[in-house]
Amino acid sequence: MTFICGVPSAELPPSSNSVVILRWLCPLCSDQDQMPGEECGLCLGRGAITQDTADTWLTMAEPGDPPLRPAPVPPAVMRSPCRDCAFRPGAPEEDEQPPVERPFYCHHGMPVVNGAYAPTAWADGKPLGAMVCRGWWAAATGEPLPAEAYRPANDGWGRP
Ligand SMILES: [Zn+2]
Repeated sequence: MTFICGVPSAELPPSSNSVVILRWLCPLCSDQDQMPGEECGLCLGRGAITQDTADTWLTMAEPGDPPLRPAPVPPAVMRSPCRDCAFRPGAPEEDEQPPVERPFYCHHGMPVVNGAYAPTAWADGKPLGAMVCRGWWAAATGEPLPAEAYRPANDGWGRP
């Protein structure tokens, strides 16, 4: 699975054009400080690596090399999928789930204007302060999707 969508690795991060997920802590430098002026050849000083880099690492790893450990989930990702998460079985979006190439936000707490979600603050085309959907995070990182079936919220807009 590719976790770098549409940009060569030299461009990450930052990039406002795509999602880049550094899913694994760098096995070479995440537990130690680098010497001043020295850059880790695996993570290029980021401290974490993409799935593609991890796959390459695993093909070259030798016995005794440090194991891969998952990077922390960012604090703006919902802790668990909502009962009406778009990534649950039976969700209205089940046949056409939101693409993993761009961030997808949880609708809970988002204002609705004329039947559409209407965030009140934006930055770089993204709703400022909105929480990232936990189901989307699972899809984007290759985790299992939420197993429990979709249960609609009472008003259809995520409000209990
Ligand atoms: Zn490193």
